[in-house]
Amino acid sequence: MERFTLKIIDKPKSSLRNVCRLCGMDNPNKIFILRDEDVFCEDDVPLSTKIQVCCGIEVTKKDRMPQKICTLCSDKINDFYEFREMCTATNVQTRDLLGLPREKPKSKAQPPPPPQPPAV
Ligand SMILES: [Zn+2]
Repeated sequence: MERFTLKIIDKPKSSLRNVCRLCGMDNPNKIFILRDEDVFCEDDVPLSTKIQVCCGIEVTKKDRMPQKICTLCSDKINDFYEFREMCTATNVQTRDLLGLPREKPKSKAQPPPPPQPPAV
């Protein structure tokens, strides 16, 4: 993990908001994670949902964190989300073919429980 965090550690706070939310790099091509309602297409899964599902990171407009990701990360997220969907579909299909019960769907995109304070 350390080799990733080192990339952004020297940046001043003001430029930290301009780095990619996911890789921390200041790549030139970046896109907004959250789109405005008017350009939101309903049949597509929002990028923020894919990030939540694939990385467990919640992105909101008011989180005071970088609001963009680079196109490299965007491609990875889209690919991984698709891969995840495929695995889920295969799992269901295989269980059906083998006559096994379908697994109970886990509650979707639930953030993990807040960290407990260390016992003193
Ligand atoms: Zn990135």
